[in-house]
Amino acid sequence: MRPYKITNILFVIVLVLLDIAYLGGIVEWWSLVMVFIVYIVLLVLGAIYIEWNFYLRSFNRGKKEKQIALTFDDGPSDITPAILDVLKEQNVQAAFFTIGKNAAKHPEIVKRWHEEGHVIGNHSYHHGFNFDWQSRKKIVAEIEQTNHLILKTIGVTPLLFRPPYGVTNPNVARAVNHTGMHSIGWSVRSLDTRGKDPIKLLNKLLTGIESGDIILLHDTMAITREILTDFIVQARQKGFTFARVDQLLDIDAYA
Ligand SMILES: [Zn+2]
Repeated sequence: MRPYKITNILFVIVLVLLDIAYLGGIVEWWSLVMVFIVYIVLLVLGAIYIEWNFYLRSFNRGKKEKQIALTFDDGPSDITPAILDVLKEQNVQAAFFTIGKNAAKHPEIVKRWHEEGHVIGNHSYHHGFNFDWQSRKKIVAEIEQTNHLILKTIGVTPLLFRPPYGVTNPNVARAVNHTGMHSIGWSVRSLDTRGKDPIKLLNKLLTGIESGDIILLHDTMAITREILTDFIVQARQKGFTFARVDQLLDIDAYA
């Protein structure tokens, strides 16, 4: 049972008990308000932190000793070819979680991803700010639209899905279960989209890595391209090897 369901059950039980206590004059009204606030905070944190597996079980790290996986979200973009050049030079295979509408604009990059041994995952079609507020049906439609596009472009249907913004909720969970996708989270959030200082970003990544880490990066960011070679070289010096996320997790990348 997901923590979300357990939280709901506990909330109802505590609320009933507190109601009785309140009617009996044992507790004040604000205890009920406090319980309600804690409940809402838990629901929100559970939505934000994909690692909690609160609404949906996601793969957030692997178990292989000294192996780590690079994952890039939101492309293809103008930066993607330069990132691919680095990966090729360093002989690293990664995962690219593509936004469908960007993949439609750059089919040549989608083909290059595939030809160079990278794995392609689904990161919704529009990646709009309202993604998580949509109905299950609309979320399913976005996932399927991107899957069809990838199938048309390279002949395989992705099974890996990364929820936009890493946000999950009951509708996202139902959509992922309905489509049979694997939800892929992360254990290291680089925050490269907010990074301004390449040295700081590089050091933050290097000091934090552990065996089995799934590292979230973006192939839309120049700073990510800037630090990529150094990160790969220095992580290798620390004894890490790079695996594709599907290999790190021992799951199928395509249907
Ligand atoms: Zn994204």
